[in-house]
Amino acid sequence: MTVFSIIFLVILVVSFAGIAASMRRLFSYMALGKPDNRFDKPIKRLKRTFTIAFLETKLLRDPVAGALHLGIFWGFVVLLFAVIETIGEGLFHGFSLSGMGWLYSVITCSQDFFCLIVAFAVALAFWRRTVKKVKRLQVDEEHQLDATLILLMILIVVSSYLLQSAAQISIFGMRPHAVRPVARLLSGMLFGDNSFTVASYQILWWIHILAVLGFMNYLPFSKHLHVITSIPNVYFSWRSKPVPLKPINFEEEGVEKFGAGEFFDFTWKQLLDAYTCTECGRCTSVCPANQTGKELNPKIIITAIRDRMMDFAPIALAGNQESGQSGSAAEKKFIGGYESEAAIWACTTCGACMEECPVTIEHIPAIVDMRRNLVMMESRFPDELQATFRNLENNFTPWAFPSGERAHWAEGKNIVTMAENPNDYDVLFWVGCAGSFDARYKSVTAAFSELMNIAGVRYRILGMEEKCTGDPARRAGNEYLAQMLMKDNIETLGRYGVRKIVTTCPHCFNILLNEYPQFGGKYEVIHHTTFIETLIREGRLKPLTSIMQDIVYHDPCYLGRHNNEYDAPRNDIRRIPGAHLTEMGRNRDKSFCCGAGGARMFMEETEGKRVNIERTEEALATGATTIAAACPFCMTMMTDGVKAKNKIESVAVKDIAELILESVRVKPAGDPVPFA
Ligand code: SF4
Ligand code: SF4
Repeated sequence: MTVFSIIFLVILVVSFAGIAASMRRLFSYMALGKPDNRFDKPIKRLKRTFTIAFLETKLLRDPVAGALHLGIFWGFVVLLFAVIETIGEGLFHGFSLSGMGWLYSVITCSQDFFCLIVAFAVALAFWRRTVKKVKRLQVDEEHQLDATLILLMILIVVSSYLLQSAAQISIFGMRPHAVRPVARLLSGMLFGDNSFTVASYQILWWIHILAVLGFMNYLPFSKHLHVITSIPNVYFSWRSKPVPLKPINFEEEGVEKFGAGEFFDFTWKQLLDAYTCTECGRCTSVCPANQTGKELNPKIIITAIRDRMMDFAPIALAGNQESGQSGSAAEKKFIGGYESEAAIWACTTCGACMEECPVTIEHIPAIVDMRRNLVMMESRFPDELQATFRNLENNFTPWAFPSGERAHWAEGKNIVTMAENPNDYDVLFWVGCAGSFDARYKSVTAAFSELMNIAGVRYRILGMEEKCTGDPARRAGNEYLAQMLMKDNIETLGRYGVRKIVTTCPHCFNILLNEYPQFGGKYEVIHHTTFIETLIREGRLKPLTSIMQDIVYHDPCYLGRHNNEYDAPRNDIRRIPGAHLTEMGRNRDKSFCCGAGGARMFMEETEGKRVNIERTEEALATGATTIAAACPFCMTMMTDGVKAKNKIESVAVKDIAELILESVRVKPAGDPVPFA
């Protein structure tokens, strides 16, 4: 071994020891989190990792930034071989990977071009941050410095490598199987067979390897930690949509703390999320609360967990987990100090942040975990929720209606309850609280039941035996109350052996389908828009009457983004003769929330612009005369919005069921086709 090799070996050992120490520290912090089983279904997880992490499908939702990042990412994958080769060269004179044959040709050629692509991508990234000042990329000074440093390091790594390769060609010629068109060109332009080239080669070699080692050592202290954590984070993310809320086992012995009031109350996966946030701001740019001026910033929800962990984990590891009485970080509370309480309550759980996040961070469970802590441990929540929780406890509905009136809408309609006849039916119609009590939505309930009558569907309702599904209580953090309602309903449904449910409410649909199984309630659940689509397809409903209107459809978050149902409601509208379906700019998985989800329906909205106004303005801007809804909360919010904009005389807000009924019920003059 030469002196040079020995010096290099020492540098290498010190660098890797530094990286190992940093990783050990990060692991020890993460190990403070609660358990979470994210090790099932490895094949499904690998497939997801391939598409999201390696093909960067989520990043490509923004074509410019996505293509930019894809270039940097794959550039680095290919350049990994360059790092291996450089380290080998440092240790063993004349080391080369050229024995890989044709693969070496592919790798070297790609390295050359990727160096150019990465350099271009870095320059573009600088321009977007400093000249174009893309809003979501604007951060505080400390984070700006971090981003600049990282971009500079990347630029040094790739440019030094390219120039080093060029000098190497001038001195030693092209290696066997190497294909380096860019480096060859630079070699001819910049270097010759002289001492300047030899000195340049040596200097560039050291610059390159020291930049690589410096970069790797700096990563664990930087937001670019995601370079290391994003692939495992995608692998361990929830394997499909929607991400369910984790149930709390209230019967578990010794558990005295509920929800997350400190960073170590989150699961290890949530702490991995916190490490992985790239601070790209994509979540913030689509958050309805943030975009209408609320304090909530989903990016900060996640980075605050990381900041708290970095500040407080050393204290916690020193044995002060529960007391947290030592150190300056411990003087600052987690909720209130790092996380804004107002922000936690501003979330509508619309899921836009999670849809957009390129590294599959799960914001909603983290927010709900903090709400759980505030509600169940601290008894601190917006005043309005007091009445909601009380009503849910006493009346089994969020509103102050007696539960005995739940089936009043059905009076005189010849609708049969399960108690009256639990046999010979096709489907249970889950009416929901809004469908049962809300003056406006009761007409949607009636319209849908009429459609089922016309189509000859044999259905039952639970009537007074139905209780709120628990969705608002669960999203508001009152897991105890939510579980009480869920278990009562499961008991009722089980008693009647219910297997198939149809509902007009996406919130009921979502919780019945995705969260009731957590407590043993497994059903086939169908949203009424999907049900109507099937009835039309089967010819059991025939929309024949023209409705000559421009209809704009607003996607409910819990039907669309959370459950991927975008087409059925649109297909229903398209089946109406004369109806012209128009779209808002933000539609389908990019849709903008109405503002009522996550129990926001039951809270005041005093900060910033109202979310429903923002969405209504967008709908009105299309010029449509009808706004089609498929959710009781959306219906209320959009109707309020239209009223606030003084457009109620010219723009109607209608449910899909009402529109279909209008087209089905009125038989066109002279039309011989029977429809009922
Ligand atoms: S779920 Fe919706 S409202 Fe809540 S933080 Fe995410 S984007 Fe914002
Ligand atoms: S949470 Fe995801 S989308 Fe939001 S800033 Fe972090 S990485 Fe970007």
